[in-house]
Amino acid sequence: QRELEARERYKPALTVDGARVEVVANISDVAEAIASVEAGAEGVGLLRTEFLFVNREAPPGEDEQLAIYAAMLSALNGLPIIIRTLDVGGDKEIPYLRMPVEQNPFLGERGIRFCLSHEDLFRTQLRAIYRASAGGQVRIMFPMIAMIEELETARRIAEEVRLEVGAAPVEIGIMIEIPSAVMMAPELAKRVDFFSIGTNDLTQYALAMDRMHPVLAKQADGLHPAVLRLIDSTVRAAEAARIWVGACGGIAGDPVGAAVLSGLGVRELSVSIPAVAGIKAQLRHSAMAENRDLARRALACTTAAEVRGLK
Ligand code: PEP
Ligand code: MG
Repeated sequence: QRELEARERYKPALTVDGARVEVVANISDVAEAIASVEAGAEGVGLLRTEFLFVNREAPPGEDEQLAIYAAMLSALNGLPIIIRTLDVGGDKEIPYLRMPVEQNPFLGERGIRFCLSHEDLFRTQLRAIYRASAGGQVRIMFPMIAMIEELETARRIAEEVRLEVGAAPVEIGIMIEIPSAVMMAPELAKRVDFFSIGTNDLTQYALAMDRMHPVLAKQADGLHPAVLRLIDSTVRAAEAARIWVGACGGIAGDPVGAAVLSGLGVRELSVSIPAVAGIKAQLRHSAMAENRDLARRALACTTAAEVRGLK
């Protein structure tokens, strides 16, 4: 049984009716890059680069970042990796960056907003990513995009850096994790190669419930129909623009969540390393026609509990 599972986890997640869903991993360091491949992940759907910046006195320089990205690419041996640019702020505080003290940090200068106001830091990271990109299949992703202008500025800076280091273009995508980005998804989709839905923040901002809140966090379920309807609009916009959509928040690695998301048309699920083999096995034993039907019924539900009761 063990041996069977060990062999099975390297097989692609092909449903019984022949639909392919990519199952990739969320990682934060080189050891996890190695572990994700062993777990059967088909790549990395989210590298949380903020973990390269924590527990130290100063930000990692360009060469240090380059060495880390290169080590990850070598562990991945040709499998793709989505490197998300620094997503600090909110709950992710880094003392030496002297981040502003804010009354509502989750609504403050976090993610791409922080990078655009600390351009040196952003350029250093982009230089390291582009220099590493020759060694594997690198994709770049910007977090916390709320407005088109942020994407356009970030893309302009990335392109300047790319030309400086003489790297080839790579796929560029954004996190869809703010309701305004969902509303603008048709316009955003024309400007990127892919979307990755961050269901943790999307749920927090859609329900106006702090994801760290000791009482409310439990109620902030990414399977709430309000969130699923936002995801559905995102996928429709992406399909119309012919770009692909992944998801990297917690519900991608939840059994009901994986079924509903794939049924909504999410093509790539990025999950925690321990969840990889189970989600792949679940998808292989499911039919996409059934997942689509489940997704359709989930969109018509009135509560998260009702959605969870469908399966
Ligand atoms: C998310 O918001 O869903 C996400 C994947 O990013 P993070 O949890 O790092 O904010
Ligand atoms: Mg997020």
